[in-house]
Amino acid sequence: MQANEQEFRQVEQFLKDHDDFLVVSHVQPDGDAVSSTLVVGWLLSCLGKNYVMVNEGPIPQRMSYLLHSDRIMDLSVTPLSKPYKHIICIDCADFRRVGKTSDYFASDAEILNIDHHPTNDGFGSINLIVPGAAATVQVLYDFVKWLNLRLDHDIATAIYTGLLTDTGGFRYSSTSPSVMAIASDLLKYGVDGPGLSQLLLEEMTLPQIRLLTIALNGLQMSEDGKISWVTIDDEDMKQSGAIHEDLEGIVNYPRNIQGVEVGLLFKVIDENTVKVSMRSAGKVDVAAVAHSFGGGGHVRAAGVRMQGSLAEVVSQIVEQVKSRL
Ligand code: AMP
Ligand code: MN
Ligand code: MN
Repeated sequence: MQANEQEFRQVEQFLKDHDDFLVVSHVQPDGDAVSSTLVVGWLLSCLGKNYVMVNEGPIPQRMSYLLHSDRIMDLSVTPLSKPYKHIICIDCADFRRVGKTSDYFASDAEILNIDHHPTNDGFGSINLIVPGAAATVQVLYDFVKWLNLRLDHDIATAIYTGLLTDTGGFRYSSTSPSVMAIASDLLKYGVDGPGLSQLLLEEMTLPQIRLLTIALNGLQMSEDGKISWVTIDDEDMKQSGAIHEDLEGIVNYPRNIQGVEVGLLFKVIDENTVKVSMRSAGKVDVAAVAHSFGGGGHVRAAGVRMQGSLAEVVSQIVEQVKSRL
């Protein structure tokens, strides 16, 4: 499903009418968030606009091959110098997903909200939300084509990266014919598909393997075998030497156990905050589960940050999932 002509026209107008943009994606950005940020940056450069790219949280180290990824600032390290009036939010299901970056939104800020989460609440002044898109980069690819801009190898690599990571290597149900057609087009620009798959989906660091081992050692199952979960706390992170981006993919292990409908990962953020990642085999809409606790996502992949101790959050989420099985 594509955005309609009128939506694209509105977005084009917003970009052309203003200057000095703040481009922001969600906290702890993933492959789609980083790639989309860079595509928007490139688009603004093509239009001759000034902009700053920022996130709360670092760019995953293994994505440093993306051209200009070093220009995306980590707010936790480099504070911004002033508030911005024109904001472009990318891959954010709701306003809170931008995290502390919103401290730098002017009180009369106008927000362009570009996303693909079905749970997106349309928090922008202008919204370009395409729930049928596999990734935000897919929405941006269509927009770039609509604007008649010519891609190059670097920007094609960024778009491919977002598609590859958000579809789990072109495996999830979001991998539509149009996703494959876009991927096919991108390969014509010389994108190294197998190399990116190896780097982003196959390769693991030693700390990552250690963390996975620790997590799987504590794997738990519901009595009926339909829910499985792992937990990770600070001690586990320390012991393994892992960093935040090493959490990527761990939730797939409980989800992939035969007979399991919902796989969960609980990551302790601090004494009273737990990040929950949810993956569904298809029967349970985990976006609805996440949404009921203030989070969001997609039917088969969703997340939420919750207040409470690890034990409290585990019990609340597992009970809620059980009631939907
Ligand atoms: P994750 O488990 O972090 O890989 O996230 C899975 C999906 O849920 C992604 O599409 C995220 O954008 C979305 N998601 C994760 N956490 C949240 C949250 N706190 N609020 C809204 N959406 C989220
Ligand atoms: Mn994302
Ligand atoms: Mn995404």
